[in-house]
Amino acid sequence: MELSAELMYQASFDKNPDFEGVFWMGVKTTGIFCRPTCNARKPKPENVEFFSHTKEAILKGYRPCKVCKPLENPEGTPPAIQQLLSELSADPSLKIKDYDLVQRGLEPAAVRRWFLKHHGITFHAFQRMFKLNSAFKKLNSGEHVTDAAFECGYESLSGFGESFKNIFGVAPSQGKSEKVIDLKRIETPLGTMIACADENGICLLEFSDRKALPTELKDISRHFKANIMQGDNPHFKTLEKELAEYFEGTRQQFTVPLSPVGTDFQLKVWEVLRNIPYGTTRSYQEQANILGSPKSVRAVANANGLNKISIIIPCHRVIGSNGLLTGYGGGVWRKQKLLELEKSILF
Ligand SMILES: [Zn+2]
Repeated sequence: MELSAELMYQASFDKNPDFEGVFWMGVKTTGIFCRPTCNARKPKPENVEFFSHTKEAILKGYRPCKVCKPLENPEGTPPAIQQLLSELSADPSLKIKDYDLVQRGLEPAAVRRWFLKHHGITFHAFQRMFKLNSAFKKLNSGEHVTDAAFECGYESLSGFGESFKNIFGVAPSQGKSEKVIDLKRIETPLGTMIACADENGICLLEFSDRKALPTELKDISRHFKANIMQGDNPHFKTLEKELAEYFEGTRQQFTVPLSPVGTDFQLKVWEVLRNIPYGTTRSYQEQANILGSPKSVRAVANANGLNKISIIIPCHRVIGSNGLLTGYGGGVWRKQKLLELEKSILF
């Protein structure tokens, strides 16, 4: 990260919410780390150090602050950004410029920083991508190139054609055979999740800080020969509703259709996972027995680990035969929380 220590200290001193999720501050004298917005008294600059991920702080031996709870929703999307995202989703032809951000009391540099960190592109590039995906969908549903372009806010057909070609490599008129996987951020009490879906259903649901996420996205893109783009998808609506109910403790089963990507063996293992009832756990060995190959515990454990649709394909319900939680792609603390939730020990 190119932010200077002075800048981060100042941001933390000001409790500047623009820096939420951008850095965390460790206090050397207490061994505790905080969010930038923490209400606890700020230490002297010489007694702090900064981290760009909570994990780095933990690895250095810092404990999470009890006041600002930096591990709860550590990569959460700030409300102002959530607002921007939902406006774009409601009207993809919107063009939110730096000037508009300033009008809303937002710092364009902060918005840019957040999108670069979480999406790898600037806010403006994000808007362009979102718009292009919306136009692509209209084309695919049979709309005319001209209508699709103008409804999505393109000012000229040539501009639309050029953007389209940049991403898909073909002109809009030939774009029908192309495929797009939609991607969306979803906020949950355990942190931000990334969801992907095609027309058949959800193909990915992962916590945004999962290390394997970029690899998983690449897998999906390769499998479907598709571009993964920010965009809306009807399956996201169902997913968000059911996920919210799950976290409220009022939903035990998901009905949203899935479109999982994996080998035949993995698909079989995941199907078995889906049959573990809510609120119960199973060992890898028991799972291998059910699959009829008691010796393939390792392969089963591997396939579990490669599950890309967490929570709905409940790999968190599989534990070691000694009862220990063992690993979890989203972090063992999340596995623990999910199991507690399902045993209705509320957060
Ligand atoms: Zn704190």
